[in-house]
Amino acid sequence: SSAPADLESRITSGMRDVPDFPKEGVVFKDITPLLADPESLRAVVAGIAGRYARGSVDAVLGLEARGFILGAPIALELGAGFVPVRKAGKLPRETHRASYDLEYGSETIEMHADAVGPGSRVLIVDDVLATGGTARAAVELVDKAGGTVVGFSVLVELGFLQGRRKLTDVEPHALAVL
Ligand code: 5GP
Repeated sequence: SSAPADLESRITSGMRDVPDFPKEGVVFKDITPLLADPESLRAVVAGIAGRYARGSVDAVLGLEARGFILGAPIALELGAGFVPVRKAGKLPRETHRASYDLEYGSETIEMHADAVGPGSRVLIVDDVLATGGTARAAVELVDKAGGTVVGFSVLVELGFLQGRRKLTDVEPHALAVL
């Protein structure tokens, strides 16, 4: 069946815990087995796209790098375009930039300044919502472009990190919560 609970258990059982990656003390959620399984890939794309009416989204923003993999097929299902949000220095044209703090140092992400027009309805997609820094910065990019965030969807939310507290104007949606 395609009930949300089935999808959630498919996701949680399809992911692998990788201790001490990318650094000691962090347990990384590896989603690559889900992507490699045809039925799971179809189910997660349909699970996110199915929350939004076709024609209700102008652009799907995918966050580098796993947000690209999910974002493009979701954009196709919704009849929307795809816009990449990348780590600083990767996009060739003029960009909007947003930064957020990490435990040590900071990270900057960018979006082409002309990729999202004023009033454009934007769905942001990523694989994992962790501390929420990336999500918050992505919302800031859409704000700078004059667009409207109509949704923020991820495969998995690491609830214990309370990343959703960083998102004030957007209610994030996760197919599975850990
Ligand atoms: P945040 O900014 O919310 O702390 O981290 C979210 C970003 O880092 C997302 O782009 C996500 O891809 C990546 N990320 C953080 N932790 C994990 C994890 O455990 N597994 C995966 N697959 N990505 C993670």
